[in-house]
Amino acid sequence: MNATDLLWLLLPLAAASGWLAARFEQKRHARQSFDLPSAYFKGLNFLLNEQPDKAIEVFMRVLEVNSDTVETHLALGNLFRRRGEVERAIRIHQNLIARPTLDKEQRSHALLELGQDYLKAGLFDRAENLFLELAEIRAHGEQALKLLLHIYQQEKEWEKAISITRKLARASGKNLDEMIAHFYCELADHDYARKNYSAAREHLKRAFAADDKCVRASMLLGDIAAQEGKYREAIGEWCRIEEQDIHYLGEVADRIAAGFKQLNDEQGLYDYFQASLRRHGGVSLALAFADVISNRDGVPAAEKFIVDWLRRTPNVHGLHKLLELNLVKASDSGRNDLLLLKGIIEDLRSQHLGYACGQCGFKGKALHWLCPGCNRWNTIKPVREE
Ligand SMILES: [Zn+2]
Repeated sequence: MNATDLLWLLLPLAAASGWLAARFEQKRHARQSFDLPSAYFKGLNFLLNEQPDKAIEVFMRVLEVNSDTVETHLALGNLFRRRGEVERAIRIHQNLIARPTLDKEQRSHALLELGQDYLKAGLFDRAENLFLELAEIRAHGEQALKLLLHIYQQEKEWEKAISITRKLARASGKNLDEMIAHFYCELADHDYARKNYSAAREHLKRAFAADDKCVRASMLLGDIAAQEGKYREAIGEWCRIEEQDIHYLGEVADRIAAGFKQLNDEQGLYDYFQASLRRHGGVSLALAFADVISNRDGVPAAEKFIVDWLRRTPNVHGLHKLLELNLVKASDSGRNDLLLLKGIIEDLRSQHLGYACGQCGFKGKALHWLCPGCNRWNTIKPVREE
């Protein structure tokens, strides 16, 4: 064996050993520089010094050698999103998803977080696509469905909202029929505004199929019939509310009265209010009945009715009505005193008007079917009837 041969033999070995030594060095270096606690303290330090981008840089490098830190990255992304720093949250979550070492559960969790980043950034289409993909996976399917529902409600895509709510009901085992009925009512509202009454009726039929206690559907069905001049039918629809949820009957008391007047059925109007009041009582109904009596039998008869009613159920609304009736016949001198009293009563009464949510306490002057405070359906009721 000559020198040249030996050289040829040793060359690969030298190269190999050098490479190995370098690898070993690199690994050792890597272990040192990415030693978990120190790297995290470094990242934390950047974070505390308001240098979030440098912090993200460090945390992302740590992930390359240690995928046990996924939870920390998820928490960090969540934190940025909640602080409104959506772009940073997106960077963290996209970086996570790009790791091939993530297991299925970790990956779908990161996708769920990324979808919420998109949602916060207003990128609804991207969020929707991610949630649709996740809805098929059992681990985060229910959450993905809830987020999809949120998107469809925001976008007023009621048909999609209905199909997602049905899936969500199956996945969660909860009864969401009330909500589905409201989505059909939203579609019917849209038809009604365009005077497409047959389409509206079709949607309301489906609302009842989901929830036969849907007050909103009865109200709208009555309104449609009235628009078509079918007052007897309209009265029938509005009166159904009595069995569905008595709290809302007062909402249609004026409509029912107007319907009877259109039919020139004074007696029917009187009989209905008298009988309904006997069955349930209720402030709105009593006040409406006082007007009916006043029109038919005169102010003194209405006054007598209110006084009798107030004796049984003292309340500020009845007192206000009594003052109104007395103002009609008051002399000039007595009038000023009555007006003063009426002003005071009106202040008191204002606390007992409007609508309130039974879940979150939200108060408003108009009836919302979806609570603006807690985003729940069917939780707002008239305060007057409480
Ligand atoms: Zn609420």
